[in-house]
Amino acid sequence: MPSVTSLSNAPWMDTALTPDERAALLEAELTEDERHGLLHSHWATGFLPGVTLPDDALPGAGYVPPIPRLGIPGLYETDASLGVTNPRNARPGDAATALPSGLALAATFDPALAFDGGAMIGDEAARKGFNVLLGGGMNLTRDPRCGRNFEYLGEDPLLAGLLSGEAIRGTQSQGIIATAKHFVLNDQETGRHVVNAVIDEAALRESDLLAFQIAVERGAPGAIMSAYNKINGHYAGENDALLNGVLKGDWAYPGFVMADWGATISVQAANAGLDQQSGEELDHKVWFDEPLRASVAAGETPRARVGDMARRILRSMFAAGLFDRPLPKGEPIDYAAHGRIAYQAAAEGIVLLRNERGTLPLSGKARQIVVIGGYSDVGVLCGGGSSQVTTGKGHAAFIHAGGEGAMMAMASEAYHPSPPLAAIKRAAPGARVTFVNGRYPSEAALMARSADVVIVFANQWTTEGADVPDLTLPNGQDALIAATAAANPNTVVVLQTGGPVLMPWLNDVAAVVEAWYPGGEGGEAIASVLFGAICPAGRLPVSFPASADQLPRPELPGLGQRWRSPGGPRVDLSKAPGFDVPHAEGSDVGYRWYARTGQRPLFPFGFGLSYTAFHYEALKVTGGDTLTVTFDVINTGGREGIDTPQVYLTHRAGAPLRRLIGWSRLRLKPGERATAEIVADRRLLADFDAAKRGWHVPEGDFGIALARSAEDLVLTASAGIRKQWIKP
Ligand code: BGC
Repeated sequence: MPSVTSLSNAPWMDTALTPDERAALLEAELTEDERHGLLHSHWATGFLPGVTLPDDALPGAGYVPPIPRLGIPGLYETDASLGVTNPRNARPGDAATALPSGLALAATFDPALAFDGGAMIGDEAARKGFNVLLGGGMNLTRDPRCGRNFEYLGEDPLLAGLLSGEAIRGTQSQGIIATAKHFVLNDQETGRHVVNAVIDEAALRESDLLAFQIAVERGAPGAIMSAYNKINGHYAGENDALLNGVLKGDWAYPGFVMADWGATISVQAANAGLDQQSGEELDHKVWFDEPLRASVAAGETPRARVGDMARRILRSMFAAGLFDRPLPKGEPIDYAAHGRIAYQAAAEGIVLLRNERGTLPLSGKARQIVVIGGYSDVGVLCGGGSSQVTTGKGHAAFIHAGGEGAMMAMASEAYHPSPPLAAIKRAAPGARVTFVNGRYPSEAALMARSADVVIVFANQWTTEGADVPDLTLPNGQDALIAATAAANPNTVVVLQTGGPVLMPWLNDVAAVVEAWYPGGEGGEAIASVLFGAICPAGRLPVSFPASADQLPRPELPGLGQRWRSPGGPRVDLSKAPGFDVPHAEGSDVGYRWYARTGQRPLFPFGFGLSYTAFHYEALKVTGGDTLTVTFDVINTGGREGIDTPQVYLTHRAGAPLRRLIGWSRLRLKPGERATAEIVADRRLLADFDAAKRGWHVPEGDFGIALARSAEDLVLTASAGIRKQWIKP
């Protein structure tokens, strides 16, 4: 057997060749066993009884053994978008930097920060020995109750696509493969293995698919992970129209499609465009081995297709540099620098939702501060499931969820040990800070009465594998806030939620900040905003409904039923009963739905207050092939701050609509002025024509608005656009 060094002269090691050429040369050398060996991965957590991981597997999410004969490295796969995970302490004591939730990152509207976050995770993954990161997660928020919204990047295709593309680019800048997921429409966790999302093609192209298209163009991820659910009757991993038609056909995607864990339903998936089965121990069968060979022998799967599957995997490995550079495995990680990225993302992603009478920032104002609830004495909340990161200090508290939420071993309500209480004490050295756990509203009210200011922490824990049944804050926290606010008008509410929640007490409190799940440095980030070290910069990446009645589906389909057949892994999902979810909103997701139905949400997409003020003027727009928009922003307030002016398309050839076509993110000193320019992606001006298979831009006058949110349109203008077709 040749050694790896003697393979350095192998023709596929010629770096002057393209990844496609190198992959084709190498694929031709594979034996049938080797070829099929690349097509399925182990579930590398070692959780399953009776399943032992191979010795050379690195405990994580997935593992494909190496092929030393040809110098092909193994694939060592880890979750994911918020940091490198260590499920159930599979690598004893190994810790990582925890970014805030995806929604916090999305709230920054900052592509550069998305890149930095992705690069940070990629660096940690590579130094831990992983060469495939199973992030970025980027499903659009279609239902605010979805348990995984916190992992993703909000409801707008441009925002989610751009930030995900940058996060992926960042991760891959570290010489490993990143994975855009979950392709596509995994927009609720309830019944996720059996639910069928029903939507028409044009609407899908203009929404979730557009987000992926933008991310793929920008980030060129080596892998795409197919979703658990069905789309229009076909499982995502067996969806010929989406995998072969859209992804590999229209978009000419050259990488590989891996299944989600336990989501390869049958051998048909190979013909439909799935290239790799994942976590094979979780599936009914190891489809992409014996059954696939049998299918080829029976003439049902072309032999060339099996070669294509292997070639795509190798191609992404070449493109990422896995053959050309050793992973920096074991090299020290700069956790201090990485912590600063987590802090910045958390702090700049916090959204100031309400600030009456200039209550915030608190610096120097309060002598008696009462801090209530939310386990703010021990840490900050993080979301549950496969994305949950363990930081160097472990978890400060674990509350076992039980019930459906416990279907995932990692699904416990966990707290990163970054206590806001301690950070508040540091930020207010002259004040007396008292903590009340918040179990009894009466006690909280009693303590609140004598305080100058009261800070109530209210948490909504969400997790992969379960949706929340409604949008209220759980465990009586609404009553806690109401009682506190009645006792003291200077009540500040800090929300740590997976996404939107209802706020029946909103008009009775002085201030509200949405801190999402703020990550490993979250306590510090929250205190920085409350006390003014950071000027709030976050803007909502999701609409907050005034009530669930405003949603396209006021009741969450399938809630309250057990959808996965009992028995766990190895279930034959092809026989499992399922249910349809018609997506009547089509491409009008989130703010577009509110605009279309004329409803006012509690807080609109794009909304966020500041401690300073910004004035907009000199809006100009030119047309032609696309819209080019310029405008000036002036900081008219008293301190430096970041503003995120947004440009929406509001009219097209006489018809009203609402689409974000761009934004700018400007850091301005008091009195400073900046000019910004936005050039619209033409697909945002177009509708998708499924019959003619392309994007169509109608001729006419296009109206735009420079806005502070999807509802607060400050200046308007319009320009003529010429009729055009754009390739799909
Ligand atoms: C999740 C994926 C994750 C995979 C591996 C699945 O349950 O849906 O997002 O990457 O597990 O842990």
